[in-house]
Amino acid sequence: MKRRAKITFDRQNCIGAAVCAAIAPKFWKMVDDGKATLVSGRNNPQIKRFELVVEVSEEDIKLLEDSARSCPVQVIEVMEVK
Ligand code: SF4
Repeated sequence: MKRRAKITFDRQNCIGAAVCAAIAPKFWKMVDDGKATLVSGRNNPQIKRFELVVEVSEEDIKLLEDSARSCPVQVIEVMEVK
């Protein structure tokens, strides 16, 4: 069953540890400035975060939650939304 997840990413404070991209490469890519990028994420200047709402499988939501938990500076938030 598909679930809907909202991912919020504080890119300013990403230290480029690349753990997220190793765990969930479908959602996280490392780019030239040495930081991660949230694939298809949109910058929300009001909260200074990148955001993305996606329909994901159970497996993908686990990978996203794992990537958030494993980030050494905790700049990723994943929550289920309706
Ligand atoms: S795990 Fe965290 S610090 Fe490392 S690249 Fe991903 S978001 Fe940035």
